[in-house]
Amino acid sequence: MADRRHRIVIVGGGFGGLAAAKALARADADVVLIDRRNHHLFQPLLYQVATAALSPSEIAWPIRHLLRRQKNAHVLMATVVGVDTKGRAVLLEDGSRENYDSLVLATGAQHGYFGNDQWAEFAPGLKTIEDATAIRRLLLLALEAAERETSPARRRALLTFAIIGAGPTGVEMAGAIIELGHASLKGQFHTIDPHDLRVVLIEGADRVLVNFRPDLSRYTLDALQRMGVEVELGQMVSQVDADGVSFGDKRIETKTVIWAAGVSATPVAKWLGVEGDRAGRVKVNSDLSVPGLPDIFVIGDVASISQDDGKPVPGVAPAAKQEGQYVARLLQSRLAGAQTFPPFRYKHAGDLATIGKSSAVIDFGRLTLKGWFAWWVWGFAHVYFLVETRTRIFITLSWLWIYLTGQRSARLITHGAAASKKPLKEVDEA
Ligand SMILES: Cc1cc2nc3c(=O)[nH]c(=O)nc-3n(C[C@H](O)[C@H](O)[C@H](O)COP(=O)(O)OP(=O)(O)OC[C@H]3O[C@@H](n4cnc5c(N)ncnc54)[C@H](O)[C@@H]3O)c2cc1C
Repeated sequence: MADRRHRIVIVGGGFGGLAAAKALARADADVVLIDRRNHHLFQPLLYQVATAALSPSEIAWPIRHLLRRQKNAHVLMATVVGVDTKGRAVLLEDGSRENYDSLVLATGAQHGYFGNDQWAEFAPGLKTIEDATAIRRLLLLALEAAERETSPARRRALLTFAIIGAGPTGVEMAGAIIELGHASLKGQFHTIDPHDLRVVLIEGADRVLVNFRPDLSRYTLDALQRMGVEVELGQMVSQVDADGVSFGDKRIETKTVIWAAGVSATPVAKWLGVEGDRAGRVKVNSDLSVPGLPDIFVIGDVASISQDDGKPVPGVAPAAKQEGQYVARLLQSRLAGAQTFPPFRYKHAGDLATIGKSSAVIDFGRLTLKGWFAWWVWGFAHVYFLVETRTRIFITLSWLWIYLTGQRSARLITHGAAASKKPLKEVDEA
């Protein structure tokens, strides 16, 4: 229609969707950003909320606030449940529709339990603020319950924390939980002490951080073991239940299991009626559009696309951001009348993971860093990529405080949505 502006609907205000919306600030188009949450979340620091180092408001910001100066942007809080590709509209949970001329789908990933969805109840994953505060609650409640527990076996189970998956999130959680436990237990509890704490990291592959160079994996393994984390490699988990986790021929009795092993895509492939890859991601063209649907783009964790060397573009924040910015440029060039646009090319900056509060590993490809210096580089990189100056200052101060004193300020047991019904109840009653 000539009498109205082109309408670009973006679903998802995470790394990809927000980058796309911001990069469209000067576009001669109406930009509508839809998210089921009112906030943009900096997921790389979620584990610090789960382990009481940071508060939720330090890693999440209202999307409305972030786009407040962008005249052509409208923010809608709503849950998308489908796409009418013929009628060119996204379908919302409340039955209403949002029409689009161009559509960008950036709804990210969700926990994936490799077909064992029944484990979700006992092994919550970490993806949202609610997940993080629920895990924080589980961890802190377990310590409180252990303080009151008289049976040595039950106390041991309460003080055992199992993490499934030794990718960056699993490694970071393991290091942070053992530090949280040691800092909390030192002098503040009477019947339990730091030596009672057991953190077990379980991994199906034969090394931790399997996407990093092998020497960095070895370094990380040594560092975790020095901190007191038990690492179980080459063991597939076969059972997770109310009382523990089984893997290989072993069994650990524990009340707290955290899932850091797998993700699957949100159901975008189903919405579009196209085939997804094994993780449910949509295989996109080299310009990130969906085959046969040139006005629909899929970006970030829900898109499947290969780099020039054939390796998949990884599911990381920089990839989602680059894809969002690329689609914004492509749409602007289409609005200006261009018929063609060069394909998307991903630039990989590197892989980073922390091991506790003073060590990290960084794989830049040709250059690798490890130890204390790497931790500072990791810290600066994360502070730099935070969205707001206020949070940059708060997070830097929080980290300095933890670094110097070991004390975590966010050790609050709050209610909030429970990631796992059973363990909360069991721990409460123990
Ligand atoms: C614990 C954790 C740690 C991580 N650490 C790192 C790290 O250190 N470095 C790194 O680079 N990457 C890290 N990642 C990965 C990184 O966060 C993701 O690759 C990135 O967030 C993908 O961006 P995205 O825009 O595709 O999706 P997301 O950022 O996940 O955003 C998706 C958005 O879509 C919204 N949404 C979903 N479904 C709907 C719906 N039906 N209707 C409306 N809105 C919807 C969600 O509310 C969300 O706001 C981590 C991820 C996790 C979970």
